[in-house]
Amino acid sequence: MPDVYNWHLGRKMAYRFPERHPRFQFAAVFNTNRCIGCQTCTMACKSTWTFSRGQEYMWWNNVESKPYGGYPQFWDVKTLELLERADPGGQSWDPRQREDRRSPYGAYQGKTIFEAAPAGADALGYLPTDEEWRAPNIYEDTPTAYPTAPGAFHPTGEKLPEHRVWFFHLQRICNHCTYPACLAACPRNAIYKRPEDGIVLIDQKRCRGYKKCVEACPYKKPMFNAYTRVGEKCIGCYPRVEGKEPLFAGTPVEPRCMAACVGKIRLQGLVRLNADGSWAEDRQHPLYFLVRVAKVALPLYPQFGTQPNVYYVPPRWVPRPYLRQMFGPGVDDAIAAYTAPSRELLAVLQLFRTSQRIIFSYRIEEGPKVFETTINGRKWELFNDTVIGLDRTGKEIVRLTVEEPIYTRPPQHLNSI
Ligand code: SF4
Ligand code: SF4
Repeated sequence: MPDVYNWHLGRKMAYRFPERHPRFQFAAVFNTNRCIGCQTCTMACKSTWTFSRGQEYMWWNNVESKPYGGYPQFWDVKTLELLERADPGGQSWDPRQREDRRSPYGAYQGKTIFEAAPAGADALGYLPTDEEWRAPNIYEDTPTAYPTAPGAFHPTGEKLPEHRVWFFHLQRICNHCTYPACLAACPRNAIYKRPEDGIVLIDQKRCRGYKKCVEACPYKKPMFNAYTRVGEKCIGCYPRVEGKEPLFAGTPVEPRCMAACVGKIRLQGLVRLNADGSWAEDRQHPLYFLVRVAKVALPLYPQFGTQPNVYYVPPRWVPRPYLRQMFGPGVDDAIAAYTAPSRELLAVLQLFRTSQRIIFSYRIEEGPKVFETTINGRKWELFNDTVIGLDRTGKEIVRLTVEEPIYTRPPQHLNSI
């Protein structure tokens, strides 16, 4: 297998195909701290793409309750176990090899699913059983206990004094990975990554329904349609990303799951790539800022090796060892950055879900100081800055302040009885 560079791992890794990168990459940041588990995203996707015969069990977008839930059930535990069996004790990182551009999380020491593939296969994986696909959010809202007394700090630093238990919502779509396992495993070469936006698609005419993509994808996001007998997966709502949504005439628009998000936890965008696949420096791009500068958002299971393009702000209240195995070694820095956000980070966080149009850059107009407190023993100040989101052409599409304005409804209004 050729060697490719994976910056999540901070090293080269083996992959079926040589490196070739799109000009832009579909990417997103999901803030787990804000998700209310309402499943509006799930239903927005379902009612757009998977309402037909053979798709009854399909949830291209699902939101699962961690630690117990999963769709398909056990998807992450099973892949982690396979990786552990193939490379015992391998899933660790060397933080000394941390370098801002090439290896921001250090260097991964273990094997990826490509490097641990059994003879004759291109990736390590498994096929879920029919039963495991039966519920998109099994064990909904089921918590687990903190190992410490109520109100006490967990030994690893987090606490939520009001509660003795924890769970969180994990929002999941296809990651439109840089090195997709689905694509590597397809014997028909029916899966491709689009050069214009990095969206990963299955060519329905080439597919013969061998389910190799279902087996190989560690996130279990390709699904088999038993009626058409071919594989299907999230298509990143590519007509919207291309600007074909009639309501927005030519402007790139966020996918349906992002645009519908009630909790305002999602921010999607297109990230410009260098020829070597690294993110081109784009300081005023909100995703570049969140992932590469503030480092508040992290990839999901980077050790799998697919270099996924959905990034997560990890939940503050969850024991750190659980989060480190899930989001890698950047967890502590990400939570520290989120808990006491910088002035710029706080402004950029306001941009989530404020426009259906894709935001390509932002600028900030400074406002007055409106609040002061102490966070983790340090002084922290709140400024009522204004953040402005701009489209691809630099046109303003959204403007809002850090402090939410209060509007008083007039006595007579449209909903007056
Ligand atoms: S998440 Fe799975 S289906 Fe999506 S691109 Fe990555 S490997 Fe393929
Ligand atoms: S719509 Fe948003 S808040 Fe609701 S479940 Fe989906 S991601 Fe969470």
